[in-house]
Amino acid sequence: MVTRSLRVVMVLALLSSLCSLAMADDGMFPMSELPRLNLAERGILLSAEELFSPGATSLVDGICRVNGCTGSFVSSDGLIITNHHCAFDAIQKASTRENDLLANGFSAATREQEIPAPDYQVRITEDYRDVSEQVLSVVTPGMPYLDRTKAIERRRKELEIAAEKEHPGLRAEVAEMFAGKTYVLFLYTYLKDVRLVFAPPASVGNFGGEVDNWEWPRHTGDFSFMRAYTAPNGTPATYSKDNIPYHPKRVVKVAPEGVDEGDAVFLLGYPGRTARHKTASFLRFEQDVRLPGIVELYQWQISEMEKAGAEDRAVALKHASRIKSLANVEKRSRGQLQGLKRAGIVATRTSSEAALQNFIDAESALKEKYGTVLADINTVYSEMSTAGQWEIELAQLRQACRAIAFGFYLYDAAVERAKPDLEREAPYMDRNFAQSSQEVRVAMSDWHPPTDHIMLTGMLERLCRKPQAQTIPALKALASNIAGINGKADELIKSTKLGDPAFLDACLKKTPEELNALNDPLLTLVIELYPAWTELRSLDKTREGRLNQLYGSLIDVKQQFESASFIPDANATLRFTSGHVRSYSPADAVIRTPISTLKGVMEKTTGIEPFDTPQAVLEKYAAGDFGSFVHPRLAQVPVAILYDTDTTGGNSGSPVLNAKGHLVGVNFDRCFEATINDFAWNTDYSRSIGVDIRYVLWITGTVYNGKHLLTEMGVGE
Ligand code: ASP
Repeated sequence: MVTRSLRVVMVLALLSSLCSLAMADDGMFPMSELPRLNLAERGILLSAEELFSPGATSLVDGICRVNGCTGSFVSSDGLIITNHHCAFDAIQKASTRENDLLANGFSAATREQEIPAPDYQVRITEDYRDVSEQVLSVVTPGMPYLDRTKAIERRRKELEIAAEKEHPGLRAEVAEMFAGKTYVLFLYTYLKDVRLVFAPPASVGNFGGEVDNWEWPRHTGDFSFMRAYTAPNGTPATYSKDNIPYHPKRVVKVAPEGVDEGDAVFLLGYPGRTARHKTASFLRFEQDVRLPGIVELYQWQISEMEKAGAEDRAVALKHASRIKSLANVEKRSRGQLQGLKRAGIVATRTSSEAALQNFIDAESALKEKYGTVLADINTVYSEMSTAGQWEIELAQLRQACRAIAFGFYLYDAAVERAKPDLEREAPYMDRNFAQSSQEVRVAMSDWHPPTDHIMLTGMLERLCRKPQAQTIPALKALASNIAGINGKADELIKSTKLGDPAFLDACLKKTPEELNALNDPLLTLVIELYPAWTELRSLDKTREGRLNQLYGSLIDVKQQFESASFIPDANATLRFTSGHVRSYSPADAVIRTPISTLKGVMEKTTGIEPFDTPQAVLEKYAAGDFGSFVHPRLAQVPVAILYDTDTTGGNSGSPVLNAKGHLVGVNFDRCFEATINDFAWNTDYSRSIGVDIRYVLWITGTVYNGKHLLTEMGVGE
């Protein structure tokens, strides 16, 4: 006999599977899912094999990861199109007060003029295989959580090293797909010589700045070109003037005709992180603790850096990249906070968990196996909420104050490098150490001691006001005289050598004792705080081990409950998503159409940053010099497009492709309401934003001196 509650549960399960059908556009599909998708129904004229086909050539060979973003190869000579905000760090690092590429833009007339970006890497997915069984074989019943995390980490490293031996020249990385359940080993080509080729001025590439960031309608020409190089024999190599352009296996064809409202589009890219499978207790932790903490800390850092750069462009340039990424996350976090409250996501998830719990409780076998899973997950998040701000700030001390970050890297390297390779934290393993040290060295070029003094003061003051400071001798001493922290921080920053790359290089081979004996006062503070950070690292791993096991069980039982299979959360591995160019309604009686144009750029232009359209654009606009890049219906150069694909951070720079797989835009953002995508996708509010290819071509070829790039991409005007 079916009981009433069981009937309710069954109806709910049916409804929820109907819901997943209704939300068919939701999904960042891994390559393994492509054969199961009905691509034709999605308006795509390519087969799964034409999209991805390991061992043969497919569209994926034309897609790459560019640091944390995505890019596409648009010529057989390794020319990459990505976002302006993805190349931002390279543009900023190459800029000086006298030669301000960020403000003026940059166009290399010849290959020799292209500018090396030493902290950039490009990654291409070659192949993948499921290694879940091999990874999970090291987990034993009842294993302590910390040991569990460490055993899985070690196994992943072993598999990576073995795969790299098997495939010389490729890099292997094991990605966790479903926490505690599925793991996939990816094989990548990594290219290490990446150069800046073309960037519009920031007044085009970042038009609208933070005012318009995460908003639609948008009028930002957020694109740039880079180029990947290899050694003369075609193998990956770090920068050398003898290197030659990389020849990709596949070039993404540019479609200068662009798209129109209603057209099908799809994206391939490397979305960073989503949390769609996490519980209501996780969302509450985000809503009540982590996101508000981030907003407060980032707002403070941004405003201090802006003040520091207000009078001196050279200082502003040093901070530009950091301000940009902090501001991006700060505004996204505010969007997420608003979305969590408005969209009632926590309440919806709480009630679906109640239905799941009923389902579990209705059958004794399920109850025995999964009865406490949800409650146990809640316990972990409530522990994290209790420690909350303290842990966030302890970790942030190392982000906000750069010299502390450099000192931590140095000391951590000394401790970790003394261990056997497989037991080290990943950045210090032999296969990663050169790259991670290079990143620190490059970061030092932006070090600005007066700002670091402010950051150190602010973070130490915050920490010292917390009761936990009393448990750390170095902080306890500072906490006894909070008013004196400013002076102390000044002294520490003025006397440290930690911002100097030569000091870093001289210290990289030293032991922890030798570093201690240097008596650099700021490094000494780092060493005193080091046990607190490593304790936090162990605590995080313990929680990870526990959540990893619990989420594995949760997915198991949810799959039984919903009789559905799920798509793993984004994890910076290659994904496919599709949708249509489509309007949306952010509020009652408001409809926003999906194509913005140059006319809108003019309407927004005030002459004052961030709405200070460059003279060259104004002149071409006044002259009506649009070439063939006019939208036939709108009779304007289209600037940006809006579409309902499923994207997140990391999809920045992803190609927006038409039904034939040709490039019609470059993805760069989402609308404000869609910041909540990371927690729950919804057909009503989830919209992504890309720069229209016609604007890219017009700005590059008609407004600035990049006609040769259009020729290189096979585009005639
Ligand atoms: N602009 C975004 C970013 O921060 C892209 C996105 O998240 O949709 O990377």
